[in-house]
Amino acid sequence: MIPLPAFADNYIWMLHDGHQAIVVDPGEAQPVLDALGPSDAPGSLQLLAILVTHHHADHVGGVDALRKATGARVFGPARETIPQPAIPMADGDMLPLLGLRFEVIDVPGHTAGHIAYYTDAEPFENAPILFCGDTLFSGGCGRLFEGSPAQMLHSLDRLSQLPGNTRVCCAHEYTLSNLRFAQAVEPGNAQLIHYRMHCETLRAQGRPTLPSTIALERAINPFLRTRTAAVVQAARALDANHATDADVGVFAAIRQWKNTFQ
Ligand SMILES: [Zn+2]
Ligand SMILES: [Zn+2]
Repeated sequence: MIPLPAFADNYIWMLHDGHQAIVVDPGEAQPVLDALGPSDAPGSLQLLAILVTHHHADHVGGVDALRKATGARVFGPARETIPQPAIPMADGDMLPLLGLRFEVIDVPGHTAGHIAYYTDAEPFENAPILFCGDTLFSGGCGRLFEGSPAQMLHSLDRLSQLPGNTRVCCAHEYTLSNLRFAQAVEPGNAQLIHYRMHCETLRAQGRPTLPSTIALERAINPFLRTRTAAVVQAARALDANHATDADVGVFAAIRQWKNTFQ
């Protein structure tokens, strides 16, 4: 499994078995074509499928060119408009690819029809894999462009319940700025401090901080920790009058703070 860098901070995730490959959210085609190799060259990969999580241009911009160059089938969210023809996918659908079975999980919030793809087949590092687009980031979550805080919290709760060793393949390298915010929310979280130092070293070496794991995100990501005392307290300090007694009020207050955090 390889994160192909695209644009300033996108990753196009590629999974392959040495012969065939799938990619997730190709915002541009060239990094994928380069990774596949020339189709007549020995060792080149055949693109079997393109998985799309949501309709934003930095996730679908390369779809048409890749389909044309490779004949790959395209799968995407049933409730969003993406380049056609695409096979519509919705919650609970099962997608057999590369001898694995991917399950579709509806995760509205960043966009109204955002979906994620999950396999428990453990094809990489003996762990399940989650492709979560712009819903869950390491140390953060996507902006609420089309959904409500309640929807996003529900979506994140579903992802948080996946097995702890699940490799979390996010579509952006936002980790360092997310962790700076996470530390403002929870200055006393020792694991967060340690993880931030680790990620700073990785980025200084030009390496990705991803994939993360669900267990790690549960320990350090404020948006998966809206029921922990420190995060509730931070939300109350921001917004004493708001309904931060409810989980969703805590989530909304923290998400709002992140929008303006410098
Ligand atoms: Zn997006
Ligand atoms: Zn994006």
